[in-house]
Amino acid sequence: MFENLSDRLERSFKILKGEGKITEINVAETLKDVRRALLDADVNYKVAKQFTDTVKAKALGMDVLTSVKPGQLMVKIVHDELATLMGGEAVDVQISGNPAIILMSGLQGSGKTTFSGKLANLMKNKRSKKPLLVAGDVYRPAAIEQLKVLGEQIQVPVYTEEGNKNPVQIAQNAIKQARQDGNDLVIIDTAGRLAIDEQMMQEIKAIKDAVNPQEILFVVDSMTGQDAVNTAKEFNDRLDFTGVVLTKLDGDTRGGAALSIRTVVNKPIKFVGTGEKMEALDVFHPARMADRILGMGDIVSLVERAQEQYDEEEAKRLQKKIAKNQFDFNDFISQIQQIKKMGNLKELASMIPGVGKAIKDMDIDDNAFKSIEAIIYSMTPKERTNPEILNGSRRQRIATGSGTSIQEVNRLIKQFDETRKMMRMVTQAKNPARMMRGIK
Ligand code: GDP
Repeated sequence: MFENLSDRLERSFKILKGEGKITEINVAETLKDVRRALLDADVNYKVAKQFTDTVKAKALGMDVLTSVKPGQLMVKIVHDELATLMGGEAVDVQISGNPAIILMSGLQGSGKTTFSGKLANLMKNKRSKKPLLVAGDVYRPAAIEQLKVLGEQIQVPVYTEEGNKNPVQIAQNAIKQARQDGNDLVIIDTAGRLAIDEQMMQEIKAIKDAVNPQEILFVVDSMTGQDAVNTAKEFNDRLDFTGVVLTKLDGDTRGGAALSIRTVVNKPIKFVGTGEKMEALDVFHPARMADRILGMGDIVSLVERAQEQYDEEEAKRLQKKIAKNQFDFNDFISQIQQIKKMGNLKELASMIPGVGKAIKDMDIDDNAFKSIEAIIYSMTPKERTNPEILNGSRRQRIATGSGTSIQEVNRLIKQFDETRKMMRMVTQAKNPARMMRGIK
């Protein structure tokens, strides 16, 4: 799946290999290549352009991280944008009604009947549902037969009315039957045509109006590329469907449909079919699909870790300030915020070997920082940058302003002074020559 696109993208990133940093010129060159790769994969022209424009803006605006290379950073940006393009978050199917009703739509041969079976199978096994499959294709006896065979295979009942040519009636009767039999999910397969057809649209619309389904899924063959996107648009204009199912992703698809459909119809892709077997169904996860397209998961997580870690530039800036004895309350509070960002304090501390057991029953929580923050926020900007001026009356004012006591304020200032002294010693220890010379 997507092999060609994956290869092409990987080659595009090579342009940045050996480059020291991301610039207008090397980004433009890389993205020209990326855009060509997308167009060759049958991605809609407008979608491809919008995509590369967004990636460009992000790449040029990105913070410089010295531990990752420009090529790696670009892989990460493209990965995230691919995921966004495909919808960002996974969107689940609505199965909350009783019975919940799911209506299928799509062209003949797109894989509707197969998908109906797969979905029933998934709901039965993974969601403990009791589905009823409904054969709504009144024109092709073979289609009814196909659904019956699938139903038998997965042990799910199939509702049919042979001879009845009214699919609306069949759907309504099936729902009645489901209520009687305690089936909490009704999956209605419908008739398709080889191409968009007015009568087919009217028929599905009539079923929709009559049974008011929670979900109308549009099933489309991903191998049909741009056509898939055009068909999706026409079905959506008429039916306002709730989600897309991409089938035959196991084949030699170029990926265009997967990448363009979401943007063009603004409806989530909910499932992908990856084979003819009943188990060959995946819930659609945009980020995982982006991983598969790029095939460079390790680089993506490397950049993620570097971005999550301490901000290097900020660390360098701080080090300079400490060395010059300029570390102030603004830096102190930004340190606290860094620590808070890392998550639960107790959890963090417990990761230090030997500490976990010792703090098990201790009361450390993130509120520990609350009064410290309140005190610092009650200082004037001048006091924060020049803690030396904090005399008795200023301390009293801060205590009142922050709702704490003068003792707490005194304690914090003392802690701050000690921290500052210690930090200075540590930075100087890294430079023994300076220490020996006693340079302050
Ligand atoms: P319908 O006319 O929309 O109901 O389409 P069908 O369910 O009959 O599917 C048409 C053909 O595509 C059948 O031969 C299916 O076995 C095949 N098919 C459906 N889904 C997939 C899939 O995800 N992968 C592959 N390889 N074949 C599929």
